[in-house]
Amino acid sequence: MAGDDSKVVVIGGGAVGTACAYYLARAGDEVTLVERSGLGAEASGANLGLLLVSDKPPGPLFELSLESARLYGNLAAELDYQVQYERSGSLLVYTSPDAMAGAEARAADLRSRGLEAEVLGRAETRRLEPALHPGVAGSLWCNLDGTIYPFALCHGYARAALRHGARVLTHTAATALEAEGGRVTAVVTDRGRIRTEAVVLAAGAWSPALAATVGVRLPIEPSRGQMLVTEPVPPMVRHVIMGHEPYVRQSPYGQLLIGSIPERVGFNKATEVPVLAEFAAGAIGLMPCLGGVPVIRSWAGLRPRAEDQVPIIGEAPGVRGLFVAAGHFRNGMGQAPATGAAIAELIRGRPGYPWLEAFDPGRFA
Ligand SMILES: Cc1cc2nc3c(=O)[nH]c(=O)nc-3n(C[C@H](O)[C@H](O)[C@H](O)COP(=O)(O)OP(=O)(O)OC[C@H]3O[C@@H](n4cnc5c(N)ncnc54)[C@H](O)[C@@H]3O)c2cc1C
Repeated sequence: MAGDDSKVVVIGGGAVGTACAYYLARAGDEVTLVERSGLGAEASGANLGLLLVSDKPPGPLFELSLESARLYGNLAAELDYQVQYERSGSLLVYTSPDAMAGAEARAADLRSRGLEAEVLGRAETRRLEPALHPGVAGSLWCNLDGTIYPFALCHGYARAALRHGARVLTHTAATALEAEGGRVTAVVTDRGRIRTEAVVLAAGAWSPALAATVGVRLPIEPSRGQMLVTEPVPPMVRHVIMGHEPYVRQSPYGQLLIGSIPERVGFNKATEVPVLAEFAAGAIGLMPCLGGVPVIRSWAGLRPRAEDQVPIIGEAPGVRGLFVAAGHFRNGMGQAPATGAAIAELIRGRPGYPWLEAFDPGRFA
């Protein structure tokens, strides 16, 4: 029952909301997480699970992803849950010699930021990934990118939060926020009202509607992504393959996951044959052996895309105690851990991350 008080209420049981609930509960806060459906029901259960650091330019987005990669390093042991984090490394694949012109400079830039990176020729690239087209020109290898099993991440965070005393209320929808004197006071749900001192709004693409109930404008819109999934096949993709869309990833169970480009179609989660056919053709162009692999499923999810494509993390202007953790667009899995850790610090009044300022919700005021 949702009727009790709670010092903090987190709205949304995706990767971002569960991470926030975990880091808050671990720090000793009294936390209730409300999720209108099941954990990972939306974008966090519909994605490829790629954790990309090396594609970020120097600056706050890189720092947010880098700190998340650091937190991922020990996460399975910390949560005592098999989140299937693998730091597989990535290959940024170049399909023509001309495209490789800037590769050495890019590798040097990544090394200057503390990552391991190396430019590889065609033979070495194909030795690492034999399924790639024989005509690829080469690649840029980087050590820090990796993968996760998205559902396991949400469940791992939520279970660990429970162990630290959090309440997790699934199938409980927040319908409105309440504020008095410029301060958040309650979350109204379809199972009762929860009085609270702080709210973390982590409802992904659905965050703006809830923020609007206390007069806060959040410029986040849904960005559809479609995915194709194949039958399990023997291991054929070992690294995160970058530089070519759609992405192709192999899950630990052998299925190949193929996706995804951003589409602006509102809250429409349909999959469409022409888009999926284009994905299939693109994937086969990069890895010809995929041509014979049966497709068994497709789905679509809605990424939360902030107007400026930068996550929104911090206290909302005008409503004290309302913290936003949303708008991670294409990088929510790769940035959830540091977002959760940062929100926990903010709510405890000890913001320790210098890069957090860049994500301040006040930038839209
Ligand atoms: C096809 C696809 C591929 C992607 N690939 C990657 C990738 O490889 N790597 C990566 O880092 N990112 C990827 N992304 C993006 C990533 O999935 C998102 O950035 C991330 O999942 C956002 O997490 P979130 O918790 O903010 O939102 P969500 O996962 O959408 O979670 C929001 C939650 O809030 C709940 N909710 C909404 N309204 C309410 C309410 N009123 N009351 C209670 N609960 C509510 C929803 O049910 C949902 O569970 C991909 C996305 C898609 C769609």
